[in-house]
Amino acid sequence: MNEIKIFCPATIANLNCGFDILGLCLDVIGDEMIIRKSSNKGIKITKIEGANLPIETKKNVAGVAGLALIENLDLDFGFEIEIYKNIKAGSGIGSSSASAAGAVYGINELLDRPFTKIELVYFAMKGEVIASGSEHADNVAPCLLGGFTLIRGYNPLDIVEIKSPNSLYAIVLHPHIEIKTADARAVIQPMIPLQSAITQTGNLGGLIAGLYTNDYDLIGRSLTDVIVEPFRKHLIPHFDDVKNSALQNGALGSGISGAGPSIFALCKGKEKAKKVANAMKKSFLSTNIKFDIHVSQINSEGTKTIMN
Ligand code: ADP
Repeated sequence: MNEIKIFCPATIANLNCGFDILGLCLDVIGDEMIIRKSSNKGIKITKIEGANLPIETKKNVAGVAGLALIENLDLDFGFEIEIYKNIKAGSGIGSSSASAAGAVYGINELLDRPFTKIELVYFAMKGEVIASGSEHADNVAPCLLGGFTLIRGYNPLDIVEIKSPNSLYAIVLHPHIEIKTADARAVIQPMIPLQSAITQTGNLGGLIAGLYTNDYDLIGRSLTDVIVEPFRKHLIPHFDDVKNSALQNGALGSGISGAGPSIFALCKGKEKAKKVANAMKKSFLSTNIKFDIHVSQINSEGTKTIMN
């Protein structure tokens, strides 16, 4: 195989009580990439469509993640990458992660899979440094693996795939505003009260148990964040109204996707998800800020080949 076309999905990280550790994979939004072997060593990004992003290998997460993967392999050839972006950078649904995950997935396939998907997370994280300044896996893990993923720890990297019910749907409302990462970080408190830690860990345990046992009520009761959302939500206009409209219309929970500005909700079943999406849309329309809204099943496959 010399060329591969792949789909790299959008993801929701910072799932309420799973701040920094729990993410999920979407299936209706994602980028496409074409990766091909080249007689020139190294990695060259030859095309980017749909976004204005750096094409220099070392300034693009796809290039950096790909280089991390091939660094210790003694290859006498290299790779060309074409990126077709659908996920807007800075939307809070893992735009950079999709490129990082796509690059390592595609290269690994063209090399006949020297690494497992879980091992690929390590290389994709290296690409994330370009986007956010740190090696974090909370978007690249669900993007590569699909489903819900838990980052149990980084030293060593320990990723747990979390079983989840089939009829869970996610809604993502993406307001077209920019939240600077520095601002999103600055509002987070470096220390948290013991009571907040107890509440958050109780909810996290409840959420994981609910996902494993298909207990939607428990999932709903647990989808709460007392540590970050209370401070970050002020950066997103109309956040409380959108969240309340989702909950009043039957969503299991709602919160900030990634560092925002996207707002997500989780629902049981497609009909309920459509109803909740309509309510969120109606609520946000009063802001006059442009937005997109997506209703998506949980994508259990993650990054995948669409043509080779
Ligand atoms: P979000 O997770 O909020 O969607 P990201 O964390 O993906 O946003 O950050 C996007 C940042 O990463 C932008 O500053 C963008 O310029 C940079 N970046 C570098 N390469 C890429 C790429 N291939 N795709 C998307 N963003 C990239």
